[in-house]
Amino acid sequence: MRDRAHSVTLAAVTRALRPDSASRRRFQRALLGWYARHRRDLPWRRTDDPYHILVSEIMLQQTQVDRVIPKYHEFLTRYPTIESLAAARTADVTRTWYPLGYNVRPVNLQGIARETLARYDGRLPDDARALRAMRGIGPYTAGAILSFAYRRDAALVDTNVRRVLGRVFLGPRRLRRLRGDRAIWRLAETLLPPRKAYDHNQALMDFGATRCTARAPRCPRCPMRSFCASYPGAAARDGRRNGHA
Ligand code: SF4
Repeated sequence: MRDRAHSVTLAAVTRALRPDSASRRRFQRALLGWYARHRRDLPWRRTDDPYHILVSEIMLQQTQVDRVIPKYHEFLTRYPTIESLAAARTADVTRTWYPLGYNVRPVNLQGIARETLARYDGRLPDDARALRAMRGIGPYTAGAILSFAYRRDAALVDTNVRRVLGRVFLGPRRLRRLRGDRAIWRLAETLLPPRKAYDHNQALMDFGATRCTARAPRCPRCPMRSFCASYPGAAARDGRRNGHA
C-alpha cells in the first residue's frame, strides 16, 4: 500500500514537471510582465562583454548581489580585460578579490582567463561543453554565460530557480518528493521562450531573489498566484478547477 502511494506521488511529480504549452505560456507571460515592472538595475546587465559577465557570475556564486556590486567595479577597474587578468600575479588577484571569500574562485577565474587566451584566442567559448570543461564553470554558470553574454536559448538552474519552479509547478508536498535537479533542469529548458532567454533567465533570478524568496514569499500580490501550486489555498482552487467540491 505504501509503495503504491509512493509511486502515485512520483507520477504526479513527473506530470507536474511537464506542463502543456498553455501553462508554459502563462508562466512566461506572468514572469516577463512582472520583470518589465520590477527588474533590478545591475551593472552586469549594462554590458554584453563575456569577460565582464563571467566575472559577475563567478562573484555571484554564493555571494549576495549587494556585496558583489562594489567588488565587481573594483575588480574590473584593476583587471579590465581578460588579458590583464591572465597576466596578473595570482596573489594580487586573490587580494583584490578579498573579502568576498572562497579564494578558490579568483584562482579559478584567472585559470579560465589563461585557458581562454591559450586555447580560444582570448574569446570565452560560446559552447556549453567547452565552458563546462573549465574549472569553476558548472552547469549554472555555463547557462548564464550562454544566455547573458551570447543570447543563446540556454536554461539555468540555481537554488532560486529551483525554488520558484518547484513552488509554481509542484507545490510543497510534491516538491518534497523531488530528488536531484535533473527534472527541474528539463522543466527550465521547456519553459524558455525562444530568443528571450536573456530576459527570461534574468527575470527568474530577480523573481526568486525579491518576490518568491526562500523565507518570505510575497504571495498575496504575486502574478503567479492564480496558477501557483504553492499559493495558499491552491489545493482547494485546483480541486474546484478540476470539478471537485
Ligand atoms: S504565489 Fe507565492 S509561492 Fe507562488 S510563485 Fe508567487 S510568491 Fe512564489
